[in-house]
Amino acid sequence: MSESAARPPALVVVDDEPAVLAAIARDLRRGFGERYRIVRVGSGEEALDVLREVVRRGEQVALLVADQRMPGLSGTDYLVRAREIVPSAKRVLLTAYADTEAAIQAINQVALDYYLLKPWDPPEEQLFPVVEDLLTGWESGAALESGGVRVIGHRFSRASHDLRDFLARNRVPARWLDVERDAEARQLLAVAGIEDDRLPVALLEDGAVLERPTVLELGERLGVAGQPAAEHYDLVIVGGGPAGLGAAVYGASEGLKTIMVESEAPGGQAGQSTRIENYLGFPAGLSGSDLARRATDQARRLGAELLTLQDATGLRVEGAGRIVELSGGGSLSASSVLVASGVSYRQLEAPGFAELTGKGIYYGAALTEARSCADQHVVIIGGANSAGQAAVYFAGYATKVTMLVRGDSLARSMSHYLIEQIEALPNVEVRIRSEAAAADGDGRLRALHIRGADGGETVEKVDACFVFIGAAPRTEWLAGVVARDERGFILAGLDAKQDGWPLARDPFPLETSVPGVLVAGDVRARSIKRVASAVGEGSMAVSLIHQYLAEA
Ligand SMILES: Cc1cc2nc3c(=O)[nH]c(=O)nc-3n(C[C@H](O)[C@H](O)[C@H](O)COP(=O)(O)OP(=O)(O)OC[C@H]3O[C@@H](n4cnc5c(N)ncnc54)[C@H](O)[C@@H]3O)c2cc1C
Repeated sequence: MSESAARPPALVVVDDEPAVLAAIARDLRRGFGERYRIVRVGSGEEALDVLREVVRRGEQVALLVADQRMPGLSGTDYLVRAREIVPSAKRVLLTAYADTEAAIQAINQVALDYYLLKPWDPPEEQLFPVVEDLLTGWESGAALESGGVRVIGHRFSRASHDLRDFLARNRVPARWLDVERDAEARQLLAVAGIEDDRLPVALLEDGAVLERPTVLELGERLGVAGQPAAEHYDLVIVGGGPAGLGAAVYGASEGLKTIMVESEAPGGQAGQSTRIENYLGFPAGLSGSDLARRATDQARRLGAELLTLQDATGLRVEGAGRIVELSGGGSLSASSVLVASGVSYRQLEAPGFAELTGKGIYYGAALTEARSCADQHVVIIGGANSAGQAAVYFAGYATKVTMLVRGDSLARSMSHYLIEQIEALPNVEVRIRSEAAAADGDGRLRALHIRGADGGETVEKVDACFVFIGAAPRTEWLAGVVARDERGFILAGLDAKQDGWPLARDPFPLETSVPGVLVAGDVRARSIKRVASAVGEGSMAVSLIHQYLAEA
């Protein structure tokens, strides 16, 4: 091991006032000195030099703390520039009460993780919990990128993309090696005697080599999938997005024997959001993967079971029992079921898109691709908040980001705060009344045919394209059992009281046409498509299930 690899990651603190600098460094050392190195610097300019030197030596920086009021570079300006040098370090601004307004403004400018009011006494209450939380988030990100499983493959291979995406979304520590770019990848393949046509390959920590594994095979080998521990549950939740996770937390904490089935990875659509800025209690926003990690840990800690990599494929009613059939061949027996299966992206039906999916064209943000987009031209298709978040995120990596928006303005479909962020980014171009007419490639995306506002078509070189064009529910497995509207969304409450409703009472507000089967989140007809409403409905469903079970 090199000397630098042995050095603990740094917490870099900048303040021009020696007394404040000494105090914050002292407290950080007391709380975190065993795991981290505390570096003290007296100005923003000097600190940027320190960061460049740390990076040059191959060392890590976990946290930046900067006072807002400094002569020369202000705290905010320093953090903007520091972000370019150490993008994954967490950022904290130290402010006086009078500067709170400036700190709130800085949240967008710097993607600030926290602002800390001076004085932070007692540190046990005001400083340590916040910093511990930020460092836990940083550590899990760092472990994810450096750890455990190695996946070797071609960047523009759908199978490689699916494995990387699965590992990242399930937060399995893994390192991706591109066979075309990384010499280490070729060496490892030579040592293992694996030919190119057997890629992608996964090298596990126990020495196992899996050639062209499916996501399910890899998930089972890594123990990600889980096994049901009980014969019968009070509550089976289908879908592990915010609604399902909300229900898992409330169900388990209120004494229901609860299991959640998720076909891909906990977090759902929200797990793919680069930055959720409107979820209550997180003034600096939080990433979808962070929200998913916190919620999954919380649900598990409270006793909910999680079964991933399994689809619910059918629902049967057997007297008071509700049986959920699973894609793996098994089934789960329950007294009540919550359908929280959300929606998934609609596919773009233009020539070339189907063949190049996973090979330069991706649905959703596909965050695993971000680093590979450095120095490239990225196109984002769509004009809603999800597309806007992706544009802001990829602008931090790509040379140029082009947004293709079908409508005649972003304001019709996107929140004001995101429009402002996009307008401030010099490398993002928004083209209204524009759409992708076709995609060209040779095993990977090379160009898009773009139809512009004047109706004319241009062919433009594009390295990666991310599609966000609306979503549809995934409820075919409930056809003929649970009443749905014409678009497949599940009816609930009085809308679900149709011919054949078997009880004297009306359905509960989130109850479907089958008593004891409830629905929450985006998959519910007429739902509000927001993280907070999904979480709220998940918790409300648990309360209604208590009522249902009490009456049953
Ligand atoms: C990129 C992006 C950014 C967003 N940003 C914001 C934001 O900033 N603020 C905001 O409020 N909202 C945001 N949204 C919307 C928000 O994420 C959704 O409203 C929310 O995730 C809905 O939660 P849900 O639990 O109902 O469904 P989903 O999040 O869709 O989760 C459903 C889950 O069910 C699983 N599933 C589906 N079918 C089955 C099956 N048969 N068996 C097992 N599992 C199944 C899916 O794999 C999925 O994980 C964003 C959405 C996207 C895509």
